[in-house]
Amino acid sequence: MIRYTLACDARHDFECWFPSSDSYDSQSERGLVACPSCGSTRVSKAVMAPMVARKDRPSAEALPPVPATEAPVRMIAEPERKLREMIKALHAHVAAHSEHVGDRFAEEARKIHYGEAEGRSIHGQASLDEARALIEEGIDVAPLPPLPDERN
Ligand SMILES: [Zn+2]
Repeated sequence: MIRYTLACDARHDFECWFPSSDSYDSQSERGLVACPSCGSTRVSKAVMAPMVARKDRPSAEALPPVPATEAPVRMIAEPERKLREMIKALHAHVAAHSEHVGDRFAEEARKIHYGEAEGRSIHGQASLDEARALIEEGIDVAPLPPLPDERN
């Protein structure tokens, strides 16, 4: 079973379980997936943001601080090149030092936080709502800036 966070065209978020990603595709194409709030069948997967979580205890392998992504301002060429290198280096570091958990990110981050899974650094995808919920629970997660090459 796969859980998807979906959003309708009125921006209601809701969660749905599907036997597989193919069955989500075919059910949504046939209009069988409806928003529980408004009944709209114009639903799509909610935006998933790449996220990292850190181990509870700091260690030599602790992830580096994540550069702020809040300011999508136009930058002149040189700082932009440096920022790209920084982001690439960060992604390489995250890939080398943390486990990729894909869209199970929120679930795994929660398990680690509550001691139900081995303490380790992980990275994966989370919806914005999931990320917000994790942060509200005091779980140490941070958004990972997208690689410059992945933009658009
Ligand atoms: Zn709706």
